[in-house]
Amino acid sequence: MSRFELLVRGGTLVVPYVGTIRADLAVAGGRVAAIGLDIPVSDAATVLDATGKLVFPGAVDAHFHLGIYRPLSVDAAEETRSSLVGGATTVLSYFRTGQHYLNKTGPYETIFPEVLSSVAGHAWTDYGFHLAPMDTAQVREVPSLVEQSGVSSFKYYMFYKGFNLSADSRDAKAFTMSDEYDLGHLYQLMEAVAEAGRSADRRVSLSLHCEQAELMRLFIDRVRADGDPQTLKAYSDARPPLTERVAIGEATTLARATGCAVNLLHLSSGEALAAAREARAAMPGVDMRFEVTLHHLCLSYDELDGLGAKVNPPIRSHADTEALWDGILDGTIGWVASDHACCLEAEKGDELWPALPGFGGTALLYPILLSEGMHKRGLSPTRVAELVSANPARAYGLDGRKGNLLVGYDADLTIVDPDLEQEVTTDLLLSGQDHCPFEGRKVRGWPVATVLRGRIAYQNGQVVGSPTGQFVAR
Ligand SMILES: [Zn+2]
Repeated sequence: MSRFELLVRGGTLVVPYVGTIRADLAVAGGRVAAIGLDIPVSDAATVLDATGKLVFPGAVDAHFHLGIYRPLSVDAAEETRSSLVGGATTVLSYFRTGQHYLNKTGPYETIFPEVLSSVAGHAWTDYGFHLAPMDTAQVREVPSLVEQSGVSSFKYYMFYKGFNLSADSRDAKAFTMSDEYDLGHLYQLMEAVAEAGRSADRRVSLSLHCEQAELMRLFIDRVRADGDPQTLKAYSDARPPLTERVAIGEATTLARATGCAVNLLHLSSGEALAAAREARAAMPGVDMRFEVTLHHLCLSYDELDGLGAKVNPPIRSHADTEALWDGILDGTIGWVASDHACCLEAEKGDELWPALPGFGGTALLYPILLSEGMHKRGLSPTRVAELVSANPARAYGLDGRKGNLLVGYDADLTIVDPDLEQEVTTDLLLSGQDHCPFEGRKVRGWPVATVLRGRIAYQNGQVVGSPTGQFVAR
């Protein structure tokens, strides 16, 4: 019997917070067991040659939507498969009760086990969940979710406030409110999350979708009254960056008042980034971390139209994408995620308002960061690994297990050819989604193999074997 299950040989390891190291990496029991120079091939059952390649820790795609528009089991099978293509080995998916997902309301005590059993056996990556308490009864479940269910992060949607689906179809099915979903609900949720964090051995946090509902109401009405153009630019005008700024102000003010650790999700505009920077400077004692998505970094309504790219917050201008890259380069942004939500072309159609929001992108996590970040803008490979792997792992209670290449960590990694050029096509991404807003984009830097807990799960453009992803309690 071999000492090691797997040996990754000849590559350059990219170690977050450390740097790049020319070394071999060996796996035993699914974990990194040795890092050294010239580990003998005869010690390993399987050898992966990484000569001339970069070996990155598997990405932790911290913003995902398994099962939002299709059954959980189908999304788990097809969309985590797509994650492997882009070097992600863990996905952290949002889930809430109400419309979409399981179309159910009730306590997480009964619904969350159903979520877990629907995904079990189907996922190609490891996975965890962020849950959104939608009413006071669910807020009361926060302590047990943290202590017993392995859920250490929660979500609040600033823009659900005040909308009533039955009385108002401004944005079709996007809004789902419960009777008390407002800043009062947010305050008590933050109190509960902060309290749970005080007695936990890991970071317990609240993630916020920051768009302000009352201003959206006004700007949506104005766009519709002004010719109602069916364009991505019109959608951005209807939910302008000002709504992000106001929501960020509200959220961070309440975070300070309650001591709650917060993650401001998918900042989409230069103005949102400025508001986040100002909040951090004004409230240095508040643990606030900032996320951007691949699509807000790379897609703009100046260069792209077509409602396939409808998403919340909207796709912004080219100037906004450049502002977000500045936030990455200067360290303001904590991590980059995909906000992957598999949404078929038939759900988009050619009408702006009924089109379902969201689309996939998980397969492009490392490729976009390497192409646009490393090659084009001089980001180091180490910083890339921090942005897609180590930083989200730390933020969401996975440090010590995921997000780095150190002895004792899970052997989750991706071997990247930094100079492999690809033109993005829908087929290449191995997703169930039948279109791709990134289609035609040329990228440089692409994973050639992805390993989950020591097992080769993706190689040469195909998944290998069967899905072995597991739930990770955090
Ligand atoms: Zn999302």
